[in-house]
Amino acid sequence: MAMHRWLALILLIPIAACAESAPENCLEVILTGTQGGPPAVNGLAGAGTLVRYGTVENQCNDVLLQFDAGRGTTGRLSQLGVSPNDLDAVFLTHNHSDHTEGLIGLMQLRWHFMGGPLDLVCSEDVKAAGRTTSCRAFAEHIGDAFIMSGEIAQRVAENKKRHPDGPSGLVVLKEVGQTASDSKGEVVWSSGDVTVKAITTTHIAGSLAFRVDTPAGSVVIGGDAGNSKTTPPRDSSTSESVEALADGADILVHSAIHPVFAPGAGSKFPPPVYLRQSNAADLGAMAERAGIKHLVMTHLIPALDSPSHGPFVIPGGPLSQNDFVVPARESGFQGEIYVGRDLMSIRLQQ
Ligand SMILES: [Zn+2]
Ligand SMILES: [Zn+2]
Repeated sequence: MAMHRWLALILLIPIAACAESAPENCLEVILTGTQGGPPAVNGLAGAGTLVRYGTVENQCNDVLLQFDAGRGTTGRLSQLGVSPNDLDAVFLTHNHSDHTEGLIGLMQLRWHFMGGPLDLVCSEDVKAAGRTTSCRAFAEHIGDAFIMSGEIAQRVAENKKRHPDGPSGLVVLKEVGQTASDSKGEVVWSSGDVTVKAITTTHIAGSLAFRVDTPAGSVVIGGDAGNSKTTPPRDSSTSESVEALADGADILVHSAIHPVFAPGAGSKFPPPVYLRQSNAADLGAMAERAGIKHLVMTHLIPALDSPSHGPFVIPGGPLSQNDFVVPARESGFQGEIYVGRDLMSIRLQQ
């Protein structure tokens, strides 16, 4: 009998330990917009990716990070049940309006409904070619049109709990240095189990890529990064620094341009604009070298199912999803390929 009691005790220990183990965690990556560049096409929202992490029980909703916020971001977030007040931080890959213009409406809405301060992580000011690229100035002036129209003062008079400076008063700017970037990125934001690293990239002055690491998995947001050698001949159109940052990551979300817009392929698309992006073929090869499991092409130039990209007609007509998949696959990528559609999501669970 004594031996049977021992056996029962031994069998019970793992069951009790299992019942007390930590809840499962999840990482969810959702494309809030897939439009590439300034044109408006087929109702797509501008570039943006929501990364959320948390317990499975809480639907990964413990930490919400928005990477870029193009046109229509608040509308897409509303389809996910996410309000601007819910976000913990916003990260900007660069100061191009197709990645930032939605932040104006997002911040105005957060201010209107008295959300709290919001971390904005972006590049420090960069001077290049006699011009200054300044995320700081963008943030400081984010509510200016509403201030100048008198709306901010009118609504503050209506509700004194609103920040008197308007939406810029809620921004907590966290500038990323352009000079001290480690080859694997430097930590620029963290909360609990979530760490975000940044690395400088080549596209326009002050461009960054980000990597989010969590116990449930990791994701890299490449933005519009391209190769540091901006003109051919070169080995690849992809970014060496994104490749280093993405080493061993689960998911890579990256802007993709199709070779149909390459110089000499029959479109009138400006060659310098084509050459500062990563093309779909080279992205597949780069993702394979970095050991990525899921390659998500977004910010598609040109957009799927459209005969033109702004004023630029697509030689051969509209592109399909397969037109992006084939070059990425043929360049050697073995993992899963996703061609971005607004609200497409990937979920990883611990
Ligand atoms: Zn862009
Ligand atoms: Zn850009």
